[in-house]
Amino acid sequence: MSKKRQILPFFLVQKGCPYACSYCKQEDISGKEACTPSDVQKALENDRSYDEVALYGGSFTCLPKEERFAFYEAIRPSIDAGKINGIRISTRPDAINESIVEELVKNHVKAVELGVQSMDDEVLFTNGRGHTKEDVRTAVNLLKTAPISIGLQMMTGLPRDTDELAIRTAKSLICLQPDFVRIYPVLVFGGTALARWYREGKYIPPTLEASVQLCAKLVMLFHQANIPIIRLGLHEEESMHEEGAYVAGPIHPAFGDLVEDTIFHKYFSRLLQSCEGQVTIRGPYDMIQHIAGHKGWVRKELEKGKCRIKLIQEQSETSTIDGSIQAVIHRDEIYREGDVNAFKSN
Ligand code: SF4
Repeated sequence: MSKKRQILPFFLVQKGCPYACSYCKQEDISGKEACTPSDVQKALENDRSYDEVALYGGSFTCLPKEERFAFYEAIRPSIDAGKINGIRISTRPDAINESIVEELVKNHVKAVELGVQSMDDEVLFTNGRGHTKEDVRTAVNLLKTAPISIGLQMMTGLPRDTDELAIRTAKSLICLQPDFVRIYPVLVFGGTALARWYREGKYIPPTLEASVQLCAKLVMLFHQANIPIIRLGLHEEESMHEEGAYVAGPIHPAFGDLVEDTIFHKYFSRLLQSCEGQVTIRGPYDMIQHIAGHKGWVRKELEKGKCRIKLIQEQSETSTIDGSIQAVIHRDEIYREGDVNAFKSN
């Protein structure tokens, strides 16, 4: 199993961004105040080592040049001392050009995460993104000329987006071959255009169930293309629950688990449909947990048939089924053999 990367995150909280996307309320999403180069410098004044320092939650390459260099200089001593391997930034696709890429490489930026959100120009326009799908392709192609790993972030449930368009977005991102992706179902925060549209009845967010079903399809597509998903759903911050913050949308503390559970549920309900009596399933925690499901929902559903399921966690790479059917299941099969179209259409 690969070791989790140690990332020290800082949040720019919309700093440098000249836009106001329909859903953007970075202070509620991150629960942080915008950091400064001196905050970064202070946080690095210790002996701890990290793989990367990350500057998230804004558009780093839109910051004035002096400010970008102040961040580089705050981090440089730790890189020179071997405590940090590199820097990770997030930015907008239209804020990448040749000279920016050159600057990023010279200043130890090893990963760039681009907020793409959709590869449909109408969805991008409606949500005030201020860039096109072509800008995304141009940015990715430029970044691919450099030793920088590329992460692409997409959203689901934006106004004008549909399940079909979201699947097309995922397929377009796969064609761009990023090193990793993030998937975020959009949430409505107070003070945004989206909150106004919601209040005026012009925007109805998808339900949690619909969002989970769609994300299950997207996860399978990325998995089948061997593209890691490093985040699925927003991390629930306390600030989201402060008055006037979260308004609506498919929020759940275990959103990613619900999506994985759904994929496992589809696979095992097909596999076990003709089973009767007791079936014992042994396997590693990361499989057994989804065969049980969040608060046991998957097992309960599977047991609506004629079988009773006993789950045993053990150290192994695969799961084995023992009962009226016998099988050895590799985790990958669950994503690869599943049919994306088998999920409920919303
Ligand atoms: S580009 Fe990013 S930081 Fe700027 S408004 Fe949109 S979501 Fe917010």
